[in-house]
Amino acid sequence: MSRPRLTAIAASLPSTVPFVGPEAIERQLGQKFRARLGANESAFGPSPKALAAMAAAGPESWHYGDPENNDLLAAIARHHGCTQGQVVAGPGVDALLGLTVRLYAEPGQVVVNSLGGYPTFNYHVTGYGAQLVTVPYAGYRSNPMALAHAAREHGAAIVYLANPDNPMGSWHDAAVVRDFIAAVPETTLIILDEAYGEFAPEDARPALDFSQANLLRMRTFSKAYGMAGLRCGYILGPEHLIEPFNRIRDHFGISNVAQAAAIAALADQPFLQSVIERTNAAKARIGAIVRANGMEPLPSATNFVAVDTGRDAAFAQGVLQELASQGVFIRKPGAPGLDHCIRISVGKDDALDALEDALPVAISKLA
Ligand SMILES: *Cc1c(COP(=O)(O)O)cnc(C)c1O
Repeated sequence: MSRPRLTAIAASLPSTVPFVGPEAIERQLGQKFRARLGANESAFGPSPKALAAMAAAGPESWHYGDPENNDLLAAIARHHGCTQGQVVAGPGVDALLGLTVRLYAEPGQVVVNSLGGYPTFNYHVTGYGAQLVTVPYAGYRSNPMALAHAAREHGAAIVYLANPDNPMGSWHDAAVVRDFIAAVPETTLIILDEAYGEFAPEDARPALDFSQANLLRMRTFSKAYGMAGLRCGYILGPEHLIEPFNRIRDHFGISNVAQAAAIAALADQPFLQSVIERTNAAKARIGAIVRANGMEPLPSATNFVAVDTGRDAAFAQGVLQELASQGVFIRKPGAPGLDHCIRISVGKDDALDALEDALPVAISKLA
């Protein structure tokens, strides 16, 4: 039987997904989670002003959103003190990472990430036929200088650094990031993924420098702004790197509801501050819960806590499974050197109560 043929790149792809969603796990387990603490979402939700903007925009869903995202780009540019030409928006950083790989890495070219770094980026690298080279973490932090060296050694098309880091929650201060940027060859595109940037201490965020000709910085409304399900993120960079996105992006990819919500969210910085405070309190409570169970919380500049179980990867996997069977969803890093850790996202009090109840039970089952 003759039938359409997959492209060679698509035919070579494994049928894996970067993340199995909690909904898929619920279907497998045949039960709903009572605590959703695995996807680094913000349980504190969107700003009430963003919710009002969504409600007002809802009836307008019959028409397409502005394909130029003009008002949204203007609001982002105002927020960061840059020009609209230095911003491109898209349906989440995940989508923008894909477009970036498609624009800047030829099939077969090398792209560098940390071993255990953000899997959705790797998914796009493989998906566009580029070749992934990975660099181990140094302890529980990414190793920016080793990433820069790998980029130079391989003549990489792209090098990726998340600061603060997912899955470990660790961070580098601005001086280290600046040294990293300076050490990367001019012909290598740098992706600085700042999905957790709003949570980071001031000194973990280098000042915006649009004269850096090979640097793109990614931001999202999914984490601190509490709108992961809305799908909106953006990239900041010099115009010559940003303009080409208009050649390949989905021009109707951000709904008018999402555009309105993102504008309202940016305008409500007091709400963002309250989220950061509530996130810090929740991280402190997660730290106390895991310590009471003999585990070590790692310092975090994000909205989650990576936890050293003090045991091996099999134990960490067991904790994750036993928690899931009690209705508590968390995730864990998978790379060697990190895989004895678990990762717990912040949640509201009721979700952390569930964690507090379930964790000792999980551990006792593994003893
Ligand atoms: C959550 C996350 C993203 C995804 O952001 P979206 O805008 O929701 O696609 C990107 N990068 C990192 C490191 C993340 O943890």
